[in-house]
Amino acid sequence: MNILVTGGAGYIGSHTVVELLKNGHNTIIVDDLSNAKEEVIERIEHITGKRPYFYKIDCADKAALDAVFEKHSVDAVIHFAGYKAVGESVKKPLQYYRNNIDSTLSLVEVMEKYQCTKLVFSSSATVYGPNNPYPYKEDMPAIQSTNPYGWTKVMIERILTDYTTAHPEFSVILLRYFNPIGAHESGLLGDDPNGIPNNLMPYIGKVAAGQLDHLTIFGNDYDTPDGTCQRDYLHVVDLAIGHLKAIEYAENHTGVEAINLGTGTGISVQDLVNAFESANNLKLSYVIGPRRDGDLPAFWADATKAKNLLGWKAVHTLEDMCKSSWNFAKNFQ
Ligand code: UDP
Repeated sequence: MNILVTGGAGYIGSHTVVELLKNGHNTIIVDDLSNAKEEVIERIEHITGKRPYFYKIDCADKAALDAVFEKHSVDAVIHFAGYKAVGESVKKPLQYYRNNIDSTLSLVEVMEKYQCTKLVFSSSATVYGPNNPYPYKEDMPAIQSTNPYGWTKVMIERILTDYTTAHPEFSVILLRYFNPIGAHESGLLGDDPNGIPNNLMPYIGKVAAGQLDHLTIFGNDYDTPDGTCQRDYLHVVDLAIGHLKAIEYAENHTGVEAINLGTGTGISVQDLVNAFESANNLKLSYVIGPRRDGDLPAFWADATKAKNLLGWKAVHTLEDMCKSSWNFAKNFQ
């Protein structure tokens, strides 16, 4: 298939492009490089021996997107492009709503014009909100979030569902990710956010590399086995393979399907710190600090649907995730 990947130079996008190319698909990356680097395109070529088409375009720019669809015969789209920093979204809600929702509307309007009917959307476990019991299952209410970033995911899921109701020939797969970490085995692709990272693993990478003084663990007084928050960390390459399986599934599918991508296991912040130290044979400097506003004590996925529908299961271990994260961080941070 000819697959257009918005945000394809980003962390999850770049790993997904690698898996698509390795499996014989052609890829067209659209990315405005607002949170990604152009060298990623070279690195993808280095890893796969194939160069993806690349357009430095803001996905909300409908005319520019139209020109890409005019040039390439796009069979399917994977839509990653969007702002993703939770804390920033609280401070700049309009920017988040404008960018994330506008880009999706522009994309689907252009897809409609070119009769492209297959879409995989980058959603998040955040749509389960603060009130569902874990493990989260796809049929639980997914209509609430705790911050503007998360609300954009809830709203876009709604928009795409309503669109599909009106256009029953359309297929949309809403992939709800848990906590992707890890990096490509080559050490060439990984999570490299601009500025000081918000997420745990890139922050740990910078502490281990000596670029940040220490990690603060946000709270150790939660009602969890060791008092620190638990999340479902999955390897980004497993997540990328999930996208490959989802887009291939969409080929013969119509309607809306929400699918969790996680391991189904809860790992605490302290577990992750310990695993990083022992996998990489180093010591991390960390302190226990206060809780971070908006953090839920614990959640993880019920990943049964992904297995049954897509034949997908996360296979990388926590040790793989810690080793590959450090292998990337020590080279590129
Ligand atoms: N966390 C932490 N220190 C940090 C960053 C994150 O203790 O500097 C914790 C955070 O409280 C949460 C977990 O690590 O329990 C994962 O946070 P992250 O921001 O990576 O992902 P989230 O689950 O919030 O989307």
